[in-house]
Parts: sequence; structure tokens; C-alpha cells
Amino acid sequence: MAIIEIENIKKSYDKVDVLKQITFEVNNNDVVAVIGPSGSGKSTMLRCLVDLEKIDGGSIRVCGEELVKDGIYSPPQKIKQITTKMGMVFQHFNLFPHLTVKENIELAPKLVKKESAATIHDRSMKILEKIGLSNFINVYPAKLSGGQKQRVAIARALMMEPEILLFDEPTSALDPELTGEVLEVMKDLAEEKMTMIVVTHEMGFAKEVANKVIFMDNGVIEESGPPSSLFTNPQSLRTKAFLSRKL
Ligand code: ADP
Ligand code: MG
Repeated sequence: MAIIEIENIKKSYDKVDVLKQITFEVNNNDVVAVIGPSGSGKSTMLRCLVDLEKIDGGSIRVCGEELVKDGIYSPPQKIKQITTKMGMVFQHFNLFPHLTVKENIELAPKLVKKESAATIHDRSMKILEKIGLSNFINVYPAKLSGGQKQRVAIARALMMEPEILLFDEPTSALDPELTGEVLEVMKDLAEEKMTMIVVTHEMGFAKEVANKVIFMDNGVIEESGPPSSLFTNPQSLRTKAFLSRKL
């Protein structure tokens, strides 16, 4: 089943076309790696998906529901209902410094989900256990390493029980020795069949964990396919050139 259907989306800032007719689908249980040079539109594409930016044309469907069709957006209430199906993890964690780990991850469900405090508590304990941070429940973000902060950000996204998780370069702000623990959590989620779109420069992760790779360049999908073919037998010259710099 298609979780995300993106059809011919367009986005410009001033007169610069940042996304030009992007079309792709994400199916249930897919792990899609999005790779490409800086400035190619990867972040903008994710931000449009979760309605942090508006597209100028095209359609986006999430779990079969129209976020926007032919450039016309659904009413705000429906948009909200659709975007809560998606969890986003940013490069720079964006944790609240004045809230503990538990408070950070429970904030959104408390505000948005009509659940009892006990239900939310049970879920946060389970998720913190899963990402190995059970001993950090009452700790403030300043006391955490970058890798731990990013794991809390993943926990926070999971607390909303999303249908799909979107990651925008989740390890790019981390010291190299801390990227492994974050990639490990993401790999575990993939093994549990979480549907994910991951914008990443970690080619090893893309090769090993993704079942589909999208190479974006200059606002278009230059090439896409399973990692086994895209990495070993890229068709486009631009893909070849990008990969030869990366691998
Ligand atoms: P990537 O994530 O692949 O590095 P981005 O989506 O961040 O690329 O950016 C794509 C292009 O859009 C870049 O040229 C960038 O300068 C431009 N851009 C991104 N956000 C804005 C904005 N808010 N206003 C104007 N231009 C932007
Ligand atoms: Mg980016």
C-alpha cells in the first residue's frame, strides 16, 4: 500500500525553482534513502511533505488522503490530521532545553492526543527502553551527548505513533563516533518495518538499510532504484559523478 504519493510537485523561492515536477511513491515498510548534493532540494521536499512549506503545484497524498491536490490544499483541520501521521527528525534535534527527556517526548502527545497520562507514560517508558535511554528520563538535554539527543528526538517522533518517519540528515551534526548509535536505532526501526524516508550522506546506511534510493540533483529526481543497482550500476552521469565523490 502506498503511504506517500507525491505527484509532480513544484516549489519555488522567489524565482528559483527548488523542486521541479518531483514524483515518487513510498510504500508500506519502505526505507527510502534520499541522497544528493547540498542545495538539491532534499530538505525542501521533506518540509513540503509535513506542511512546513507549501508547494506551488502538484499533489501529495498520505495514507490515501489528499494533503494537496493539483496545488489546492485541503482545509486546515484535515491537513493537521494528515501531518500527524508523519514524524520528523531534524539535523539539529530541536529539543526543549527547559524540559527533561520524559517531558520533551510526552509534550506533543499530551497536547495533541486525547489519551490518559498513564497511557502516555507507559508508551514513553517503552520507547525510552527501546532506544536505550531508560536511565535518562529526568535528565535535561544539556547533559546529553549529541547522539543521545538525537535518539531522544527519534523517541519524541515515535511517541506520536506515526505511519512514517522522515529524517533530514539525522547524523550530519554529530561527531563521527556518535553517528553509529543513531544509525543503529534507525536500523532497528527499519527491521521492525517502520516506513521511513531518510535524507542522508551516509552511503553505507543507504546501501545496507534502504530498499529504494532516490538521487536528487538541482530540484529533480535524477535517478532512483534499489541500492543494489543505483550504487553499483548508476545510469546517469550526474549520479556517477556524485557517487564517485562519496564512495
Ligand atoms: P538540500 O536539503 O538538498 O541541501 P534545500 O532544500 O535546503 O536543499 O535547498 C534547496 C534550494 O532552495 C537551495 O538553493 C536553497 O538555497 C533554497 N532555499 C531553501 N530554503 C529556502 C528559503 N526559505 N528561502 C529561499 N530559498 C531557500
Ligand atoms: Mg538539507
